[in-house]
Amino acid sequence: MNSLVHQRCRVYTTEKVTIRILEEWCKGCEICVDVCKKHCLAMDILGKVKVVNVEACNKCLLCDVLCPDFAIAIE
Ligand code: SF4
Ligand code: SF4
Repeated sequence: MNSLVHQRCRVYTTEKVTIRILEEWCKGCEICVDVCKKHCLAMDILGKVKVVNVEACNKCLLCDVLCPDFAIAIE
């Protein structure tokens, strides 16, 4: 079984995109927040990234590619 199944995952979905965040892998570096030109992402009070505007996501993949810890995935 894939070990990722056991990780706590936040999922945000529209008809166009799904954004998955593995909270335990997110170290709160804010790289993804900074690179998202659509302002889809923000930090929560625990220092983990959250999605604040999934509708604005244009699937540019920058957050997915640049996250050093593979904590955010765009599908
Ligand atoms: S780039 Fe990755 S580790 Fe850094 S805040 Fe975003 S999801 Fe978390
Ligand atoms: S894929 Fe692009 S637009 Fe969507 S959340 Fe990531 S950086 Fe923002």
